[in-house]
Amino acid sequence: MTTESSPTVFADRHIGARRQADVETMLKAVGYDSVDGLVDVAVPDSIRQSKPLALRAALSEVEVLAELRKLAGKNKTAVQMIGQGYYDTVTPAVIRRNILEAPAWYTAYTPYQPEISQGRLEALLNFQTMVQDLVGLPIANASLLDEATAVAEAVLMMRRANKNKAAHDGKTVLDIDVMPQTIAIVKGRAEALGFEVEVADLSLGLPEGAINGVVLQQPGASGRVFNHADAIAAAKERGALVTVAADLLALTLITPPGEQGADIAVGSTQRFGVPLFFGGPHAAYMAVAKGLERSMPGRLVGVSKDDAGLPAYRLALQTREQHIRREKATSNICTAQALLAIVSSFYAVYHGPDGLKAIAERVHTHARTLATALTAAGRTLTADTFFDTLTVSVPGKAATVIAAAEARGINLRHIDADTVGVSVDETTTPEVLSSVAVAFGAGPIGEAAGFELPADVLRTSDFMQHPVFNTHRSETQLLRYIRRLSDRDLALDRTMIPLGSCTMKLNATAEMEAISWPEFASIHPFAPDSQTVGWRELITGLEADLAEITGYDQVSLQPNAGSQGELAGLLAIRGYHRANGDTQRNICLIPASAHGTNAASAVLAGMKVVVVATAPDGTIDHADLNAKIETHRDALSAIMITYPSTHGVYDADVTEICDAVHAAGGQVYVDGANLNALVGLAQPGKFGGDVSHLNLHKTFCIPHGGGGPGVGPVAAKAHLAPFMPGDANKAAHEAGHGVAISASNYGSAGVLPISWAYVQLMGAEGLTEATKAALLAANYVAARLNEYFPVLYTGEGGLVAHECILDLRELTAKTGVTAEDVAKRLIDYGFHAPTLAFPVAGTLMVEPTESEDLAEIDRFINAMISIRKEIDQVADGDFTVENSPLRNAPHTASAVVNSDWTREYSREQAVFPVHHLKQDKYFPPVGRIDGAGGDRNLICSCPPLSDFEN
Ligand SMILES: *Cc1c(COP(=O)(O)O)cnc(C)c1O
Repeated sequence: MTTESSPTVFADRHIGARRQADVETMLKAVGYDSVDGLVDVAVPDSIRQSKPLALRAALSEVEVLAELRKLAGKNKTAVQMIGQGYYDTVTPAVIRRNILEAPAWYTAYTPYQPEISQGRLEALLNFQTMVQDLVGLPIANASLLDEATAVAEAVLMMRRANKNKAAHDGKTVLDIDVMPQTIAIVKGRAEALGFEVEVADLSLGLPEGAINGVVLQQPGASGRVFNHADAIAAAKERGALVTVAADLLALTLITPPGEQGADIAVGSTQRFGVPLFFGGPHAAYMAVAKGLERSMPGRLVGVSKDDAGLPAYRLALQTREQHIRREKATSNICTAQALLAIVSSFYAVYHGPDGLKAIAERVHTHARTLATALTAAGRTLTADTFFDTLTVSVPGKAATVIAAAEARGINLRHIDADTVGVSVDETTTPEVLSSVAVAFGAGPIGEAAGFELPADVLRTSDFMQHPVFNTHRSETQLLRYIRRLSDRDLALDRTMIPLGSCTMKLNATAEMEAISWPEFASIHPFAPDSQTVGWRELITGLEADLAEITGYDQVSLQPNAGSQGELAGLLAIRGYHRANGDTQRNICLIPASAHGTNAASAVLAGMKVVVVATAPDGTIDHADLNAKIETHRDALSAIMITYPSTHGVYDADVTEICDAVHAAGGQVYVDGANLNALVGLAQPGKFGGDVSHLNLHKTFCIPHGGGGPGVGPVAAKAHLAPFMPGDANKAAHEAGHGVAISASNYGSAGVLPISWAYVQLMGAEGLTEATKAALLAANYVAARLNEYFPVLYTGEGGLVAHECILDLRELTAKTGVTAEDVAKRLIDYGFHAPTLAFPVAGTLMVEPTESEDLAEIDRFINAMISIRKEIDQVADGDFTVENSPLRNAPHTASAVVNSDWTREYSREQAVFPVHHLKQDKYFPPVGRIDGAGGDRNLICSCPPLSDFEN
């Protein structure tokens, strides 16, 4: 560790405990003389990498921003009229600066602790309400990953939920006018799961045979708006369920799918204020008819009550459902797109229903104006009824027209040699329309004539009548609403978030800077390669750096969450076995302690999950593993292990486990979400892994955003490279690639500059020192807290890796105080809780990360020690557990100023249990929330304001 800190060395700012004196204090508590001495004992020799990482030397913040400017300069912005699910939009500045670029919003964790998350939960409830109203269905979730995968989720949901005997095992039918990338994604999923997908022109009627479900798109990929009512009725007549992928802006003018009888609506909310971002991150939505909510994937915000009976928001039903239902989970989605959903919901709050309608009308009029000019010049359109997109027939001339438009700074869609697509959006001006007309060889534009939407598709119902969408018209009001919500929450900008397995480290401001630069943010995912040179250079560079860091041969950044990286990796394994003729290999061994997404992903990859037991010391039970390998030898596809394990320990014998699986012909999947314990010290690609996913929103500084965005790159050895994710927008199954995992080739491209910048700022040495600092911090917490809350698992020398599990079970048995009580009591001390009940029930898992300084870590340790004293007060009979500050935590301001205070502890103890809180006090807006009650009486839209008058 360096002793002197210089303002230009970024690692000194990223790593919290950097002063020699602090490091020595921590080492002393753990019982070591040097950090390297500790690391040498903690990390088994058998996995240590022999050479330092071969990465560029660290750059300063100024240098990194200059390089990012250069890369940005190699991209070319254009007027983006390619459409195909991605449209330019205006992010209102008040939303960009105060949400997208505001740490109170982007550094927040997923709202599993609802009492400190009321602000973002309200914003997500607004999102759900906005979607429900626009699509005409009663229950919407709080976002999915992208439109194409949302359709895939809907297809799988229809397959689970369709109870009609004749239809249940039937095929899935996609209309021919569904987006091409969506068709590719659905076919890829179907292939692994073995069900039939047929693409048919549903305007000609339904195909023969049993049909499980039907998917329509409104407007279609061609731009056509057609009345789905008959097609939906015919499908239902045959026992099929119906999903409509719909554009929310169009739905302000045209009849929503729910009113036409659709069971499910899905789509993208990108054009509600979220930049194109070269393909993502964008929030997809899903809404369902009554009765389907319990099989819906993703997170759902519901309204419940707190302990004082006041309305309070929380995640409902499926919260962490993979952890509970594992291979029976409805979906593998964990991290979704919370931050982007929040941006879209605020776009709706900003514009209100009338504003959205005005935008839609302007878009539609512009499209009609262009159609008028083009048809006057003799061009033909494939559809006379459209919202924003024209498909124009130009026999043999598509390339010429597109080049003419590009020369005028405009991108159009190349559909085929004879056909060009043009999509109008919120930013389109009459000048742009004129240039497009000229590119088509048409005359100047005039007035729109004809092409009105027919009466039978016009929307007649109201939407977004709730006051939240009709109040905040002035910027002052809106700014204060944004601030009011963020003040209700605890994010990383106020406190450490010691969440095990989630690595809530610094998201440096310099790393965030580039994401909203137009040369990165305003690039369409299907823009010509000549305009995306800088983007692709950044992506290729990051892939190469991640390959070096992990020891693998190839990396794909396409998966847009860890769960999607898992699916991509397992599908690569599947593809490999099949290419070798081993079609019977479908067993996936998964340790009992694994993250729930592992099991859910294995099922989606068409595998059968076999659980491997945990030994008493927290490692994998070798006898059980060997027995299961033996039983399934011929059918063994893979093992999925997490390293270091979810128990926060480096298992010394991981190489033996890998060897045993390889010897049986299986492949080794190493879940790399815990890579923060490995970077610079060990490489999964070198100690036995064939493939891994990483979580850039954990180890590589992309903020959690309150539950997304994420990036879950998949990294693999050369033999799996031919099965890595292909491009959904290119011909399916391009040679040398596997199936596509996300709608756009680079998934959540828009946030990749963050991780790219982190790697360049740290360099090989800084990254390695960060890992060592994370180990030191975790071991310091473990050493200091062990006598108050026993550390459940340790490895060599009694050391942990980058996180530690504190075992509350004995205290709970003795006093009744639960791990949840401790988690909630930490809120009164101003902290976000550690991970609760994962991977072991009755425990808390703490991961301080390298970014926390010693004073903050000590503040946390002191809070935990003070809480332990309160538990002792229960044991000593000072108060009962029911009447303790623990069970009644967290305490709201209104609870403690209540004049009939009847508790057996003082008000001071309730809210100022430690002195410094008198100056810096966070009061949660609600008290402890009733989870089960909210699930029984499910309310998932904005409640009437009268609920809050009290
Ligand atoms: C976070 C995590 C995942 C899932 O990642 P998402 O991005 O939330 O899908 C998988 N495995 C482990 C061990 C994790 O910690």
